[in-house]
Amino acid sequence: MKEVILIKEGEIALKGLNRSNFEIRLLKNIKQRLKFLGNFKYEYAQSTLTIEPLEECDMQIVAEKISTVFGIASYSLAASSEKDFTTIKEIAKKYLKEHLTQCKTFKVEARRSDKKFPLKSPQICAQMGEFLINEFSNLTVDVHNPDTIVRVEIRDKAAYIYAKRLPGAGGIPQGCGGDGMLLISGGIDSPVAGWMMAKRGLKLQAVHFISPPYTSERALKKVEKLLSIMCKWCDCIPFHCVNFTEFQEEIRNKCPNDLFTIIMRRMMMKISQKIIQNQNTQGYCNIQTMVTGESLGQVASQTLGAMVCTDAACNMPVLRPLIGMDKSEIVNISKDIETFETSILPYEDCCTVFTPKHPKTKPRLSDIERAESKLNIDGLIQNALEKTKFYLIREE
Ligand code: ATP
Ligand code: MG
Repeated sequence: MKEVILIKEGEIALKGLNRSNFEIRLLKNIKQRLKFLGNFKYEYAQSTLTIEPLEECDMQIVAEKISTVFGIASYSLAASSEKDFTTIKEIAKKYLKEHLTQCKTFKVEARRSDKKFPLKSPQICAQMGEFLINEFSNLTVDVHNPDTIVRVEIRDKAAYIYAKRLPGAGGIPQGCGGDGMLLISGGIDSPVAGWMMAKRGLKLQAVHFISPPYTSERALKKVEKLLSIMCKWCDCIPFHCVNFTEFQEEIRNKCPNDLFTIIMRRMMMKISQKIIQNQNTQGYCNIQTMVTGESLGQVASQTLGAMVCTDAACNMPVLRPLIGMDKSEIVNISKDIETFETSILPYEDCCTVFTPKHPKTKPRLSDIERAESKLNIDGLIQNALEKTKFYLIREE
């Protein structure tokens, strides 16, 4: 008996003329994710992608990998059978035995896309239902609220039998939404923000600012760990680690204390934008946006006024997917995607060194620009870029 995975597309199915582009991308992402697990045959038909192993492999592990690919509404492990109804029934009995013995009620749903198959869908349901009732004395039929649904799909090449339809990661395939640069701290919010935009199809790179000796190696390892957890969904993430110490010291020494945070944030934007330009010139990507974990009003530096001033430092859109979310909602996602436990490790971020006790919540851009005129911004950016390290983060 051969086991396959049946994948139902998510929103892609609604994409009209663009649909094939989305499907091609989804397939590419799935192949990339399964690269090291074996050889597979992939086949699209009627909004379902069938993945069939061409050699012995652990399909549970394959299913686990599939569960984190964006663009998938649901997926099922299914037994494939030749299209002979006696064989289909026997396979159903054998393949679903463990599951069906744990249920009290069931119903059968059938789909017959191969119209040459001698039984019509209602007949398949009736005959399979009768067969299973005879085989499993614990089972009765309940068509309205069954414990489980036995599904039989008669397709062109084979018949498939399964019961569990598991929820996929949702969203749209990574890469369909363009390229973006995530500003990641070691906190709770930015990994969630990155994950949310990846789910909407953004292919991520990440930038993180360190301030040694004020920030430790452990703080950097924490960010790498967060990114590697995100790689469960994002495959791999190109990572830029920027040394921000000189910049921060200059801001502290030359600018008013209550503007420290906002100026620091603006400089992060400027450096990130420079990195983006450098990346884009190399021709492998076309990064058009930055992503941050800001949420309106969460802290003094995240007032509307502060964010307007931050945005004025760069000339590309800044995506803030958490902008309207409560902390508790963000925490829930962070627990779901398993970044939470790492995010709460108590290592300092460069944002927490030198931060003023009373930052300005309603900064004026003219005040900020006057303060910044004391800095040799171009020179500082150049120095920071020279010390920037670039490497690829993968799933652990
Ligand atoms: P987070 O939980 O993401 O750290 P936060 O609530 O602590 O967010 P801030 O410290 O004000 O908020 O940071 C706001 C945003 O600025 C972060 O979500 C992140 O996108 C970016 N950011 C902060 N610190 C860094 C850093 N060291 N490197 C890169 N980006 C950063
Ligand atoms: Mg933070």
